[in-house]
Amino acid sequence: MPHTAPIPRLEIRNLTRSFEGNQVVKGVSLKVLPGQVTCLLGPSGCGKSTTLRMIAGVEMQDSGEIYVDGNLICDTVFRVPPERRSIGLMFQDFALFPHLSVAENVAFGLKGDKDSKRARVEELLNKVAMGRYIDSYPHELSGGEQQRVALARALAPKPRIMLMDEPFSGLDNRLRDDIRDETLAVLKDEDTAVLLVTHEPEEAMRMADEIALMRDGLIVQQGAPYNIYNNPVDKRAVAFFSDIN
Ligand code: ADP
Ligand code: MG
Repeated sequence: MPHTAPIPRLEIRNLTRSFEGNQVVKGVSLKVLPGQVTCLLGPSGCGKSTTLRMIAGVEMQDSGEIYVDGNLICDTVFRVPPERRSIGLMFQDFALFPHLSVAENVAFGLKGDKDSKRARVEELLNKVAMGRYIDSYPHELSGGEQQRVALARALAPKPRIMLMDEPFSGLDNRLRDDIRDETLAVLKDEDTAVLLVTHEPEEAMRMADEIALMRDGLIVQQGAPYNIYNNPVDKRAVAFFSDIN
């Protein structure tokens, strides 16, 4: 029987984007396979967030295509709106709604009747170990607890792919490793593939199945973390990884 490769949860082909004549994303292509975390790793200003924002649909690309589960969701003439892309978002500045309870925050993007929404909210809050805070408000929670609720909220509508832009940068060091591990476990359990943006090599090494190393608007190397770490493409990549110990 022929071996067929899995359909990527997310595929982007040759995405480009300029601001005021300055091209900051110069033809980025990558795939995220089911069950995997792909990490877009690169220094500040290299175009990571712009790439993620185009996939999310909050920024329009100049050229290139975006596919979810093999279906075209955006090119230069066709565009599925952000809320219909089956994409979950966790961005640095995506805070919880302060005036809504934990339950209301998680239920926010959900459709359906009251009972099914409540069941999904409880299921997710239990998965992120926040079940007993269901009626709390964001200001009553610690940073780590808010992060767990934000993860539950992003997962509630069962996105096919989760986009995370430096989601752990607001957490203090003591918490960060634990939250990273817990987040990965919940994402795997929910069968959500992940495209994670970070400028920290250590975070990519810890979390990624696949790393796409980005620089000046282009992916310069892609592969398993171990391979990239051991065979960096050039001196600048070596320098970039040298702060890992
Ligand atoms: P990263 O997330 O890798 O730090 P960004 O994608 O945020 O990089 O930014 C890449 C480049 O594009 C930066 O030079 C940034 O200043 C520029 N840029 C991003 N968004 C805009 C915008 N809306 N208008 C003008 N320049 C922008
Ligand atoms: Mg950024």
